Amino acid sequence: MMKSKVELNEAVRRELIELAIQAQQYAYAPYSQYRVGAALLTVSGKRYTGCNVENAAYPTSLCAERVAIYKAVSEGEREFVAVAVVTANGGSPCGSCRQVMAEFGLETVVLIADAEGHLLQEMTVEELLPGAFGPGHLGK
Ligand SMILES: [Zn+2]
Repeated sequence: MMKSKVELNEAVRRELIELAIQAQQYAYAPYSQYRVGAALLTVSGKRYTGCNVENAAYPTSLCAERVAIYKAVSEGEREFVAVAVVTANGGSPCGSCRQVMAEFGLETVVLIADAEGHLLQEMTVEELLPGAFGPGHLGK
């Protein structure tokens, strides 16, 4: 793994949570009304945000975390330091998002905050998804 240029200090944690709160305002959640914002910090020091995007055909909806991760991957970023996730009540990433996070590194720090910016939980992807099936199982 590339050595990160960025340190996950308190100022960076605060910035990621604020970026996630900003992204949350763009959430398209007319069905669940559950608005989610995410902000991802890459090892190279870039920030990517995402919001949940729902659809009348429910299963085609996508979570904020995966929007942010896919935006980053689509621009060549595959190593992440941390991802902040903001919801009204401090909800935790769903199983699908945990699996996608695990694909790109079990050490990524997940910051779970509420819409007022309170950091409620902090853990690694490995702690969120113990025993994850990953690239190593396919010899990658
Ligand atoms: Zn999800």
